[in-house]
Amino acid sequence: MKGAFRTRGLVLRCTDYSETSQIVRVFTRDHGVIDLLAKGSRRPVRASSSFPAPFDLAGWYDLNFRGRNTELHLATESRLVEGFDHLRQDISVWLDATFALDLLRNLFSPGDPHPGLLKEALQYLKLLEHGVGRRRLRNRFMQALLSASGVLPDWTRCIECEGEVTGRSGLHVPAGLICAECSILGSCESLELSTSRYLASDSTRDWGLVPSWEVPSEQVEAGWNLLRSLLLHHLERPPRSLRYLRA
Ligand SMILES: [Zn+2]
Repeated sequence: MKGAFRTRGLVLRCTDYSETSQIVRVFTRDHGVIDLLAKGSRRPVRASSSFPAPFDLAGWYDLNFRGRNTELHLATESRLVEGFDHLRQDISVWLDATFALDLLRNLFSPGDPHPGLLKEALQYLKLLEHGVGRRRLRNRFMQALLSASGVLPDWTRCIECEGEVTGRSGLHVPAGLICAECSILGSCESLELSTSRYLASDSTRDWGLVPSWEVPSEQVEAGWNLLRSLLLHHLERPPRSLRYLRA
């Protein structure tokens, strides 16, 4: 990856490097996850500097960088487009946001762009800022992540007989749903029809409608437990931030 590039990206992690610089991991629109060395970003000299302020976690930036033959590229200029400052005003909301950033960091590798998912991540952070429907939004984002990773099951069909699920079913992790007729006892986590229906409509639901959507809290919780099982199966190791999440 050689040459000069211009893109936009969401900061997934910031590490201080020397007195004046930072190393940032960014989910970029055009190149997927990349690491950038930003020389001088911790000590902006004046507002017109290449970096007007230090990079911040969960910031959405316009970026210029120079590609190098290593995995660490050189940031040359940045401009903050959206800081999502309100995420930091409520600890539960902030923990959810950092969990989302951790997942993006863990699930995707350099050179694997997912512009659609990145757009969804921005929607998620934006809506999370309002503090309404936090758990429903988290489920919606988990489905977007699993879908982009190619491991989201079809919540409407049995993987054995391919028939439509019309009653209680089981989730075989990671393959998908098994209807009551095909089920082998004890092989999977069971779910009510209401839960599989909730997850099916959630997976395609317009983001803007999620916070005001009336879903019984036990369905939201059952959905979260299933999505978490799928995620844990897919990840090599669970992110530490999962432990701090408030159900
Ligand atoms: Zn079946």
